[in-house]
Amino acid sequence: MIIGILKEPKEESRVAMLPEAVKTLLSWGAEVQVEQAAGNTAFATDPSYQEVGASIKSREELLSQADILIGIQPLSPLEIAKTKSGAVLMGQMNALYDSQLRDYLIAEKKTAFSMELVPRTTRAQSMDVLSSMATVTGYKAVLMAADLLPRFFPMFMTAAGSITPSRVLILGAGVAGLQAIATARRLGASVFAFDVRQAAKEEVLSLGAKFVDVEGATEDKDAGGYAVEQSEEFLQRQKDTIHEHALKADVIITTAQIPGRKAPLLVEERTVRAMKPGAVVIDLAASSGGNCALSQPDQTVEVNGVRIVGVGNLAASMPQDASKMYGKNYLNFLKLIIKDGNLHLNFEDDIVTGTCVCHEGKAISPRIIQIQN
Ligand code: NAD
Repeated sequence: MIIGILKEPKEESRVAMLPEAVKTLLSWGAEVQVEQAAGNTAFATDPSYQEVGASIKSREELLSQADILIGIQPLSPLEIAKTKSGAVLMGQMNALYDSQLRDYLIAEKKTAFSMELVPRTTRAQSMDVLSSMATVTGYKAVLMAADLLPRFFPMFMTAAGSITPSRVLILGAGVAGLQAIATARRLGASVFAFDVRQAAKEEVLSLGAKFVDVEGATEDKDAGGYAVEQSEEFLQRQKDTIHEHALKADVIITTAQIPGRKAPLLVEERTVRAMKPGAVVIDLAASSGGNCALSQPDQTVEVNGVRIVGVGNLAASMPQDASKMYGKNYLNFLKLIIKDGNLHLNFEDDIVTGTCVCHEGKAISPRIIQIQN
């Protein structure tokens, strides 16, 4: 069986597997082919893949020969058409939202696994690319804010006077938010955080941050630990509370998302206009509609001296460790579908089924079936 590791498109600097992960794959008895220059932007050279036993191939060779094709960004329909019949395609295909790609994969009877569909269960934690990449994103968002802020994060007592610590407000305490809290605390900031899930409060407090309480949030026990849409009344109360906290904040990092929906608007334009000049807002939800009224995806907007950074693919800004984590997640997932060096698709396994977009012309993941109906 041939496993192919694809080179990502120009704007992506991660690679799905670094040489150390490839070495493990080879130890399972598979042949591994790596696309020429696939690891360059993540600082893994072609010779470093060859040293562990992989061969370097052109994209055309990989597409036509591999039994399992592994990447991060999805292939285009044009390239999918070039893949071998029966090949398994793996990537982060945005399968819940990209109906065109989904329909094409089903119509062409392809077998496709989309890593963002890995169920958020305890057993699947080691395969969860969303959590791994959110860890990178939360960390990097704080470094970006610290770099842009015209002030120190920590408190300083110097001969030139005292510096008070910066005040950081984190909105949304999921994986990215908690990592942002931990990083901002390590840098010595005074951190406040808010989430609609009460379960997040304990985690926020355990990281040494203060929890901002807004009464009356809606929670749904059947939402798998995720946030659900809130009432208009609650959202207004929340915006007012955030407004009060924002006036004192040096940095706001927003991470609030609701799966399958537009991100909630948490920071209104009036709030940004009332913030301290020099303050920084990092909006990690910019590409799904934005938590801040003024953010634009992949752009920095300045209003009254407040800089609002609309973040896109921040995980790609730390390609070495992001690729390392991605590769480890992939290995843990591949263990479920490779037995004795051969492909073995067990659709009795809820992780395999949950992650599979389609197989033999049919939608497989319950989440995909639900949106197809
Ligand atoms: P996410 O990226 O979907 O959202 C980020 C955070 O925004 C969440 O904490 C959410 O509650 C919050 N949020 C949504 N609407 C909000 C609003 N109006 N105001 C304030 N905050 C709002 O979340 P995530 O990081 O992917 O994690 C979501 C949940 O999944 C958490 O409960 C997490 O513990 C759980 N999880 C479980 C696993 C696992 O078991 N494998 C892995 C990762 C996450």
